[in-house]
Parts: sequence; structure tokens; C-alpha cells
Amino acid sequence: MTVWNLGSINADHVYRLPHLPRPGETLAAQDYAVGLGGKGANQSVALALAGAQVRHIGAIGVDGRWMAERLAEFGVECSAVAELAMASGHAIIEVDAAGENAILIYPGANRAIAAPRVVQALAAAQAGDWFITQNETSAQAEAAAAAHAQGLSVAYSAAPFEAAAVRAVLPHVTLLIVNEVEAAQLCAEMGVALKDLPVPHLVVTLGARGAVWHDLGAGLAHETPAFPVIPVDTTGAGDTFAGYLIAGLSQGLEPPAATRRAAAAAARKVTRAGAADAIPARDAVDAFLADQPSE
Ligand code: ADP
Repeated sequence: MTVWNLGSINADHVYRLPHLPRPGETLAAQDYAVGLGGKGANQSVALALAGAQVRHIGAIGVDGRWMAERLAEFGVECSAVAELAMASGHAIIEVDAAGENAILIYPGANRAIAAPRVVQALAAAQAGDWFITQNETSAQAEAAAAAHAQGLSVAYSAAPFEAAAVRAVLPHVTLLIVNEVEAAQLCAEMGVALKDLPVPHLVVTLGARGAVWHDLGAGLAHETPAFPVIPVDTTGAGDTFAGYLIAGLSQGLEPPAATRRAAAAAARKVTRAGAADAIPARDAVDAFLADQPSE
């Protein structure tokens, strides 16, 4: 079973500064690092590390070849990642001495993905595969519709929240994954309570308070507590959770077991700084779970 991910690929440029620059100020950074990020790439890496077979659909600019290579090193199949004549998606992340940050994102090639190319890539998918997407690319609605029509299960991280994009994708969704803030935004936008959202399955992540899986059709909810850890950097916690969750489901785990493993992976992630490069591998997650008191 394959997981197809239409998702963003970003270079995260992280600058350490004594304070966040004020308008008009020129400030020298004390440290600089670049790493692979973007919600889509993070989820593909989490999927691959969790042991799923994952094919990424996306786009980079000519400056972004290293990112496709890095994804491939993690085991992500990248033949449907196009190289376009424009800048790759990137984020300029400024972090001050107290850990406060300011982030500028330029979507670049991520928002120039052509829907027909995505639909063509998905033609090789099989009924029973998973399709996942987020809100940092173009073509999500067309892709989700094609995947759904082909008999794939469709998972959607509706983040960053954008009302029109979410409304277009929602009719094709099997499993919606949102954090608490996005859940509230979505309910306000649709004018309904959480239990009345028009999707069969919903996962709401609650940061250090865990996550809840709602089977909205059956009217059931299952809570998964977070694992207590000392967080260092919560970037990518939701993506690690989503990637591990879909990997588990695609590997035949029941929702409670898949969510528990996803929570363990996300807990490990938040103890390390960085995005894709800080997502834990499956053996580390399994060892962490084995060390926990039983449920
Ligand atoms: P997002 O990053 O999308 O805002 P959340 O902050 O809700 O998502 O985090 C996703 C999941 O990651 C949570 O459901 C939880 O399992 C785990 N997680 C997040 N923050 C922590 C934390 N401080 N300690 C332990 N687990 C965490």
C-alpha cells in the first residue's frame, strides 16, 4: 500500500539573533542553519521513517535540488517532484535569545504545482492506497477529488487554515487532522459544532494535552494522552503526528494504536530542535513506547 503526499517542500533558514529586528533595523545574526521543512516534506519524512511506502508529489525550484535529494535519503520516492524555473518554497525563521520567533514564508514553487500533473501522477495509485495533503500547495482540491474517485482514503491536514481551500477539499476527505485552533476556525467558518463537521473521521490534536480521534459517523471518540516530555522545539509536532498516524493506518493498525504511536513520535520530535531532520525513526519510537507504563 502506498501513501501519496501532495505537499510543500521548504528550505528552513534559521537565524539566531539577540532580538527580533525592528522596522528599519539592520542586525547581524549570531548563527545560521538551513534544513528541510515545509508541512508536506515533514509529513513525507515522518511517513517514510515510520516504514510506509511514500511517494511525494510537489515542486521545487532549481535552488531546491538538495531538498529532493534529502527526501530521497529518507526513503521518500520523488519522481513526481517537478523542478520549476522559480524559487523554491522557503521560510526565513528568526529566533531571539528568549526563543521567541518571527517567520516569513515564501511559497514559491509549492504554489505553482499544476493540477493536471498531480492527477496524472495519481493515475498510478491503487484503490486502498492513501492520499494526504495539507494547505501549503496548489491543486489540493483537484487532487483530493481524483484520489477519492479512485478509491483512495484521503487524509487532510487543513493547515495553515484557509477557509476557501478547506471548503473545496472537505467533500473528498476521509480523515481530517487539525489542531485545536484550526478546529475552532473550521467550526466557525462552517457554522457547525465539531460533531457536525461533514467528514467521516476527525482527529483534533491538543498539543501537550494529546489528541482525540472522532468517528463522527458512529458518534464515538477516543482520547490519546500526550507523553510527558520536556519540549525544546514544537515545530513539526503536528506533521510528525500526522505522518506516523497515516503510516500506522496504512500498515493496518487500528486508530487507537496508530494514534498512540503517532503521539509517541511527536513527543520524541518536540525534544529535538529542527523540522524534518528532527523527526524520530521508527525504532526510537518503538523503544520509547516500550519504556512507557502500559495503557
Ligand atoms: P500542531 O503542531 O499542528 O499545532 P499540536 O501542537 O497539537 O499540533 O501537536 C500534535 C501532537 O504532538 C499532539 O497531539 C501531541 O501528541 C504531540 N505534542 C505536541 N506538543 C507536545 C508536548 N509539549 N509534549 C508532548 N507531546 C506533544
